[in-house]
Amino acid sequence: MPEQSDQLINFGAQDAADGLKKPLFGLDAETLSKLLAEAGEPAFRGRQIAEAIYRQWVSEIYEMNALPLSLRAKFAAQGWRVGRPVIAHTFKSSDGTERYLIDFEEPDTKGKTAEAVWMPEGDGGDAGDEAESAPEGVRAWSRATICVSSQIGCAVNCQFCLTAQLGLQRNLTAGEIAGQVVAVLARQSARVGRDRVNLVFMGMGEPFLNYDNFMAAVRLLVREVGLSPRRMTVSTSGIVPGILRFASEPPDVRPRLAISLNAPNDAIRAEVMPINRKWPIAEVIEAVRRVPLRPRERITFEYVLLGGVTDRPEQAREVARLVRGTGLPAKVNLIAWNPGPGIDYAMPASEAVTAFHERLKGEGIAATIRQPRGRDIFAACGQLKRTVEG
Ligand code: SAH
Ligand code: SF4
Repeated sequence: MPEQSDQLINFGAQDAADGLKKPLFGLDAETLSKLLAEAGEPAFRGRQIAEAIYRQWVSEIYEMNALPLSLRAKFAAQGWRVGRPVIAHTFKSSDGTERYLIDFEEPDTKGKTAEAVWMPEGDGGDAGDEAESAPEGVRAWSRATICVSSQIGCAVNCQFCLTAQLGLQRNLTAGEIAGQVVAVLARQSARVGRDRVNLVFMGMGEPFLNYDNFMAAVRLLVREVGLSPRRMTVSTSGIVPGILRFASEPPDVRPRLAISLNAPNDAIRAEVMPINRKWPIAEVIEAVRRVPLRPRERITFEYVLLGGVTDRPEQAREVARLVRGTGLPAKVNLIAWNPGPGIDYAMPASEAVTAFHERLKGEGIAATIRQPRGRDIFAACGQLKRTVEG
């Protein structure tokens, strides 16, 4: 459409002349309505904008077809833009997993990317043990999991994790966190409400050290994008004040909770996760106990198996005792350690993984093994690091 491309050129020029860049993505419908009302426009225009960015996934103001062209032009001239994060680079794994470098366009961190991962037939943080056969039809996937980042880098310093090597570069805003999800949904032409898409906050960063932005992103994803919090899982390394705040979130916007346990006791945990010195296992469990669970909801304990360090048979029994002792409805999700350059741990032998799993089950603990996804493109757990080397 020639008219639209003219507008595109105009918008770009006015944008640049103004110099101001104000992202709409991240503002909820209510805030957008207020903004519009303040600008002397009818408030319902705000809801139309929310509809365009969160439901139709437009990435440019000129694509907001419900708005009069004059209003779109005015907005763009004032420096507003959709401001959704951009997928700057895609790595494709042989197993169908895709890893995305996400660029945020924020002037001072331009070029500093975070990462998101798309896992068709992904397991939502659980093991892929209940795989359903794809329904007849055109779709190559019947369900999928999206993994997003909450920070660029991470300050927590777990010894086995590649992201830790970056240190904390910065917190992501709510719009940047939710925007990764929408960018990936749009890339995959997913249909919200029809496709089984799970979301895990298990990418770069510690969500509970960026609590306000993380929860604001969840609210956007639930209320504006239309995703269910029961299909979302947030993983924390055990930030006690964050868990306590999480416990008081209303259930209609509270994702499921996963705790990175990763060791059978405080001594080993403090070695592999120095954060344990601040918040030891008992304190973490005490905080988790405050989270009011929904019917059938369980807490996930993630457990990274480090060869020779946390994968020994007697440690499986210790983990079983620990988990049983919490009295919580819980399951253990075993993750074989994924290697990364400069990290001095060993992958567990596959027999050790199986034996650990069997032993937990033998002790009456619900346990699954998380299949590594996209190891060949450094997309698997703990392999996310700002890199284009793949
Ligand atoms: N920062 C949060 C969420 C992101 S990490 C947290 O730590 O919980 C998501 C999961 O990947 C965590 O359970 C973490 O222990 C695990 N992980 C980190 N590095 C890993 C690696 N190299 N191999 C396997 N799992 C890893
Ligand atoms: Fe941060 Fe999680 Fe990696 Fe630990 S495992 S350094 S908390 S991203």
